[in-house]
Amino acid sequence: MGIAGKTAIVTGSTSGIGLGIAEALAAAGAHVVLNSFTDTPQDHALAAAMAGRHAVRVRYIRADMSRGDDCRALVEQAGACDILVNNAGIQHVAPIPGFPAAKWDAILAINLTSAFHTTAMALPVMRKSGWGRIVNIASAHGLTASPFKSAYVAAKHGLVGLTKVTALETAGEGITCNAVCPGYVLTPLVEAQIPEQMALHGMDRETVLREVMLQRQPSRQFATTEQLGGTVTFLCSDSAAQITGTTISIDGGWTAL
Ligand code: NAD
Repeated sequence: MGIAGKTAIVTGSTSGIGLGIAEALAAAGAHVVLNSFTDTPQDHALAAAMAGRHAVRVRYIRADMSRGDDCRALVEQAGACDILVNNAGIQHVAPIPGFPAAKWDAILAINLTSAFHTTAMALPVMRKSGWGRIVNIASAHGLTASPFKSAYVAAKHGLVGLTKVTALETAGEGITCNAVCPGYVLTPLVEAQIPEQMALHGMDRETVLREVMLQRQPSRQFATTEQLGGTVTFLCSDSAAQITGTTISIDGGWTAL
């Protein structure tokens, strides 16, 4: 079947990992739906530039992934959905007693519940064609924990669980569902955590990068958005047709420790 000509929806794809995955799928010939919660000329320009680079159709659709009705409308408005990459995610770092309840709710909604809504909409579409690929962007924090990241770790573990259930419910139907678990990738999401980590640990930027973030990553190197894009493209290929319900770590050895 191949990826060329398929339609891929990538949630949260105006920056970082989502953008890297969208770029890789477009390069493999997929038509792409980019998404975020904004609706600016830059969002649409990003889509037009990607379409031009790869001679595929790229549309930008605004949907706030913290809202169930927006998640469902995204898949409906896309008009097709062969590949679904649930990537949108946010982070907040604080000890549990002071963790803002509103942040907990937002992280669970965007990082976990959004994937339930998009998957619920995508499966009937994929079943009609007898082919589908769902890739959930979890995290090393979907398999292990760190202090001060209660909501994120809970949501990502939940996303790994949802991945397994989706795989079991679709087994043998030409549809696969897997989770990709990156360690640290230097994206705007990680940049935003550096000041919080500096304050929490009383360290400067370089020390936080080396001693806190990459301390868990034996390679002491960040993973890249290109590596994420390549892995997702592989999971969408025919070679990966029997890979389902599993996790692939891209974490420089973090989860081997
Ligand atoms: P990022 O902040 O660079 O990008 C996140 C994207 O999600 C952006 O396009 C943003 O606009 C979008 N987004 C945020 N809130 C949204 C909402 N309510 N509705 C729709 N879109 C929304 O982050 P990133 O580092 O590229 O992270 C992408 C995913 O990868 C997240 O799920 C994150 O948890 C996961 N991840 C990242 C790392 C890392 O080190 N960067 C590691 C493991 C997992």
